[in-house]
Amino acid sequence: MKPLNQVLLHPDNRVGVDFKRWQRHGGGQGLEVALLEEPESLIGMIRDAGLRGLGGSGFPTFRKWEFVAAERDTVEKYLICNGNEDEPGTFKDCILLEETPFQVIEGATIAALATGVSRVVFYINPDQEKSLDAMIRAVEEWESTDLYFAVSKKMKRPLSYLVKASAGHYIGGEETAAIESVEGKFPFPRGKPPFPARSGVHGYPTLINNIETLANVPHIICNGPTWFRELGLGEACGTKIYCLSGDELYPGANELPKGTPLVELIQTYGGGMLLGKGLKAVFTGGPSNTILTPQDLDVHLDFDSVQERRSSLGTGAMIVVSEGTGIVKRVTEYVDFFAASSCGQCPPCKTGTYYISMLLGKIDTGEGTQADLDSLVNLCRILPGAGRCHLLDGAVKVLESSLYHFMDEYRRSICN
Ligand code: SF4
Repeated sequence: MKPLNQVLLHPDNRVGVDFKRWQRHGGGQGLEVALLEEPESLIGMIRDAGLRGLGGSGFPTFRKWEFVAAERDTVEKYLICNGNEDEPGTFKDCILLEETPFQVIEGATIAALATGVSRVVFYINPDQEKSLDAMIRAVEEWESTDLYFAVSKKMKRPLSYLVKASAGHYIGGEETAAIESVEGKFPFPRGKPPFPARSGVHGYPTLINNIETLANVPHIICNGPTWFRELGLGEACGTKIYCLSGDELYPGANELPKGTPLVELIQTYGGGMLLGKGLKAVFTGGPSNTILTPQDLDVHLDFDSVQERRSSLGTGAMIVVSEGTGIVKRVTEYVDFFAASSCGQCPPCKTGTYYISMLLGKIDTGEGTQADLDSLVNLCRILPGAGRCHLLDGAVKVLESSLYHFMDEYRRSICN
């Protein structure tokens, strides 16, 4: 059995807002190393470690840092620590914020040192009241520590921290929507370019990193890139927090080596399927991706391996569905969620998600026709790429994938 929760969710880190206890267990050592390094060296360590965005993108973290660090002639730079998570089945960032707030602050502070960021914003879903409360208290305590003063001395000005409740919408986690929200506006995703690294919050260069990504940073700086790479399996680097939910015995957040096989996650750490039922499907990375089926149980859960199965690791959320569950109903619920979450800027998204939701609702209640089913298939061809952000594509992906794998079930649900 592989070691569980060996880094980010290690008990030594899960001390809540208890700075002294956290420091006694080694907290802050990554930042102490970082204070002795040049920014280029810190970015190099993150590159060599192979750290990738763990909010769903899988984008190399060092690249984002390089882009922001390269923006030199500017008065301010922002870092948004993205903890907006609002997608069904995803609940890892709230655990990190609530139980390991200093680990997150340390990671964000090292990112600021590496890129020249002057303002750090912890951007947190307002429904996660405990996370907000923990971060407010932790930041208050952090700003009176020697570590904080050492950072400000090195930067030659105080590094400012703000804990901000996000707009709370699913779409508020999209990078440019987060920028709008930090500026106090409704989180409408913006068109790109300009990219946030060039023009983000109030037009200043802005780095946006997910909470789990940042939580890894102190450990990489403290223990070195090789140590981090070797935590993963095969080509995958580091660990990943997999949020397991649905029809297995032990749902929950499991931090495991990245690249752990799906079957091991479900059987060993999830305790197997509830009531001994068979597996029907896994909504991987949350409900906005291609569905995995029992044939994919051997897939290794890292960005590249899951992509080879034409799906995506996304946030690492795994929603497990057992035999006997109606896929049409489940997909209808997810598309309803996306239709309700659409910000309405792009007509194909606003009307498309609503229309899909209506057709699925008809089919799910036995009132759908073959023409409705044909319309769904056509919408899967027309809609991808027609929205400004990923929401529309996510809704279509889960629909298209369910049609591909479970067309018989759809056919049985229509009335003629
Ligand atoms: Fe808004 Fe949808 Fe357009 Fe995204 S794709 S910006 S959610 S309308």
